[in-house]
Amino acid sequence: MDAKDRLRLYLEQRRELGESELVLDSLSIEDVMKMVGAKPTAPKANHAPAPPLEEPMTPSDVSSVPLAPPPEPGVRFDRGATTDWREALRTAGATRPSDTSPPESVPTATAAGTAKPAAAPVAGVVTDAPVKDLPAWLSALDLPLGIEAGRWRVLDAAPDVAHLPTLEQIAEHVAGCTRCALYASSKHHVPGEGNPAAELLCVGDAPGVNEDEQGRPFVGESGELLTKILGAIQLSREDVFLCDVLKHRPPGNRDPLPEEVVACQPYLLRQIELVRPRVILALGRFAAQTLLQTTTGIGALRGRIHRFHGVPLIVTYHPAALLNNEAWKRPTWEDVKLARRILDASRSASADTTAP
Ligand code: URA
Repeated sequence: MDAKDRLRLYLEQRRELGESELVLDSLSIEDVMKMVGAKPTAPKANHAPAPPLEEPMTPSDVSSVPLAPPPEPGVRFDRGATTDWREALRTAGATRPSDTSPPESVPTATAAGTAKPAAAPVAGVVTDAPVKDLPAWLSALDLPLGIEAGRWRVLDAAPDVAHLPTLEQIAEHVAGCTRCALYASSKHHVPGEGNPAAELLCVGDAPGVNEDEQGRPFVGESGELLTKILGAIQLSREDVFLCDVLKHRPPGNRDPLPEEVVACQPYLLRQIELVRPRVILALGRFAAQTLLQTTTGIGALRGRIHRFHGVPLIVTYHPAALLNNEAWKRPTWEDVKLARRILDASRSASADTTAP
């Protein structure tokens, strides 16, 4: 089968799956360039285009996602070598109207869960894409739908991270990470910890002072509260995987900078690819807005099914915020019950498909 046939087949499959965007994983940019009649002038990728997951991709696989918006200027990603087919087509002169949009904004927030308002949205950018193509078991729950997020791949943002095969190796990589300046001011890296096959993965914003001391996530007062919250839905710390968007502490608990978030995000996505949780619980506004690439407030994000790279995501308050505001405990309880409900429904759906 030649490249054109492979492209046609791929497009047909994607269309049948109801997708409007795609990743040309099995084609080289040069193949596509030839098809659009362009001169072979695109930059050559310097890494293998194979997807990072070992198993065949499905629409809900976390790696089967469109590509990342280009990072902000000054970020330490190697954009010279790219597998972004849209970029290649643009280079070849084949622009689409949507390709001219500026990159999506990255929200900012504090490291301790008391998030400040996120960065203003970039004019003309549609950030809140609605959730679509839910599997039947998830639709059956008949819950309000939220944002479908995940417009990038680790492979494009950080090829060295995309191929890390274990959580331990991610942690080692983070230990030597210099993608942003935080490694220099923090005492320890805090990559995350927990069950490598966790069904629930919790994401906070950034390590605080206690976490920086110990190199472990959620070990301070808010961590103790998180342990209790998890206990309320019959999960222990050992059952779940706990991590943060940032893997090093911002000095003085200052707000993470957008470039720190962009630099650190490949680690988080690779962790999610490896753990393959059934549900992600975003703790606090910063984690929620960063993962969902939105400036929508936490009040409107709660109580909905969002998806991050195909994984159902529920938003709740950060445990540090609960320490100061008793009134948020009940809504948090509702949120974690919702996360538990999705987890149980996901388990049942898997059991149904594996039953003899
Ligand atoms: N807050 C977080 O978001 N993460 C931690 O690990 C500790 C406090």
